Amino acid sequence: MTVAAILFAGSLLVFQQPLNWSKDDASRVATLQKDGARIEGEHAIIWYPPSLSPSEAADLLKRIDPGVAGLWRRVGTHDWQAVPKGKIIYYLSDDVFVSHASGRSAVFISTARVRDGRAPFLHEATHELLASNRRDPSSGGPPTLRPLWLTEGLPDYISRLVAADLGFTESGPFDVPMIAAADALCTERARTPDGATMVPYVGTNQRPEVLFTTDRSRFAPTFYTCSLSFVNYLVGQINLNELVDLFSYAPTDMNGRLQKLGGKTLADLRAAWLRRLQL
Ligand SMILES: [Zn+2]
Repeated sequence: MTVAAILFAGSLLVFQQPLNWSKDDASRVATLQKDGARIEGEHAIIWYPPSLSPSEAADLLKRIDPGVAGLWRRVGTHDWQAVPKGKIIYYLSDDVFVSHASGRSAVFISTARVRDGRAPFLHEATHELLASNRRDPSSGGPPTLRPLWLTEGLPDYISRLVAADLGFTESGPFDVPMIAAADALCTERARTPDGATMVPYVGTNQRPEVLFTTDRSRFAPTFYTCSLSFVNYLVGQINLNELVDLFSYAPTDMNGRLQKLGGKTLADLRAAWLRRLQL
């Protein structure tokens, strides 16, 4: 390595680096199958490491199992779903990583989040239920991605709705205990210098790539909270079932369908939401 290359590598360590939270999933599964234990309910299976006791796992299942059932009731079963109706497998792993879904009936959550009470149990399972097999026709280039504000805001919305139905809260990593709290928290966070940079990504086709880097923690609380707030606004304008049905469309057809449902352009819907929040 040349001196310049070493300096360059050093500066990358100081500045943001890409994150790939799913690259270790196979080893997480292998470790749990070797050293961990499993508890199975009617709607969920939890694999957990020795750092969690069987009674802690049983307590988690008591909440997660009816939660997953509630998610299926809210989302429904549809021919576009990539994940068949059935049990969601939770892999709780001791390493520190961003919780995530897989699109294969499995979700991965760090035990650090389980312990601090901010695990997004239902949010991640909702990603599984919304995983869609509808794609744009291949153009040879990279596939068009669905708008991140929708693919994150809708699971945040549905997870809080179902938790409330069942009498508990899921605050998640960004501490938004209920849907009704999202507007005020979004406004507050969007008025910070870091938060303000996230507002242009909510309700638009732009993707905040910084969320996929080591700088994620500076920006994600605002992006997620404001995405939840905008989805809540859209539910009031349209309705939840129609928003879920957007996933029956290919990514590039979603905005057109949304505009048809809302009777306004997405930009107009977004502007009205921003006015409501006085942003
Ligand atoms: Zn998510």
